[in-house]
Amino acid sequence: MKKYRLMSPGPTPVPEKVLLKMADTIIHHRTPQFQVVLKEVSEKLKKVFCTANPVFIFASSGTGAMEVSVVNLLSKGDKALVVRGGKFGERFGEICQAYGVEVVAYDIESGKAADPAMIKKLLKDNKGIKVVYSTLCETSTGVVNDIKGIAKEVAATDAVLVVDAVSGLSADELKTDEWGVDVVVSGSQKGLMLPPGLSFLSLSKKAEKLVETSNIPKYYFSLKAAIKAYAKNDTPWTPAVSLVIGLNGALDMMLQEGVDNIVARHARLAKATRAAVKALGLELFAVNPSNAVTAVKVPQGVDGGAIVKKMRDEQSITIAGGQSELKGKIFRVAHLGYMDEYDIIASIAALEMVLSQLGYKVELGKGVAKLEELLK
Ligand SMILES: *Cc1c(COP(=O)(O)O)cnc(C)c1O
Repeated sequence: MKKYRLMSPGPTPVPEKVLLKMADTIIHHRTPQFQVVLKEVSEKLKKVFCTANPVFIFASSGTGAMEVSVVNLLSKGDKALVVRGGKFGERFGEICQAYGVEVVAYDIESGKAADPAMIKKLLKDNKGIKVVYSTLCETSTGVVNDIKGIAKEVAATDAVLVVDAVSGLSADELKTDEWGVDVVVSGSQKGLMLPPGLSFLSLSKKAEKLVETSNIPKYYFSLKAAIKAYAKNDTPWTPAVSLVIGLNGALDMMLQEGVDNIVARHARLAKATRAAVKALGLELFAVNPSNAVTAVKVPQGVDGGAIVKKMRDEQSITIAGGQSELKGKIFRVAHLGYMDEYDIIASIAALEMVLSQLGYKVELGKGVAKLEELLK
């Protein structure tokens, strides 16, 4: 028997305390009991999202909230600027195109971050852009984008900024209101330490104006319906009751630690992970690495898929490979959510053993020694 360790950039491990809360009796959602939970969760979410604006909850994976941000802010034929530096940036573009929104693409070389100056230029050169879409952490490449810099450029125009912080929330700094970010979308199975199944969206007043005029057809994912229900501390449809109850517990843990402290913990673990893989002679893929996940180039002569498979099947540690054109070229170790030093130490130790079995020359213990040096 080996302990199961989830070092993937979603799903992430769920704390025992939160699991126990979700095992409790299911309560009815149209009751004073659930209303208390919803009110508490709404207030706590605002703190974690660093906003005074409402944060709406949807029963979907993260992509659902991405879709909410397209179908509720835009109309057919509208123009959106989409930062595409990997799978998730591309997904925003695909959702826009699925609903007849014209995409002005800002394509970034994989592994690099968006340049706010380019956003400024694209907004100037393409009149009438209503919404700018960017990821905070582009999970597929391990890159963190300069959202503060991007927000500064977007806030100076009539456009609204939507940030995909599904994996970045609570790992990378995101001062939503302070930086002028209009909409933040996230999901439950990453930094929020819950199982998959919930998505979130915060909405500024500037963005709410677009909700009033949007004419893309929608029903279940209507923000108008959500705004109306939340004003009465209610939800339009049956919420995912047990996940929301679990969320209340997870948010308590997060606020007890403090949002800034959580980001600092992620920064510390990410920095140590990067140093450890470099100590093993490996190269990082991301130029601007995120605190959520470390993307590592597969060394020459080693089968990238075998690294992920051996880690999972023999070491019981789930890491992620590369997606699409990065398949076999990178592997990704997440340090996201319910994580501490010993999760990283175990993962790097296993990685050393796996790499050495695959014929990569590695001095056993070198990565772990680096971690101990940095984390002591
Ligand atoms: C995980 C993730 C998503 C959402 O994926 P789902 O599978 O729909 O939960 C979106 N964006 C980013 C950056 C992600 O990491």
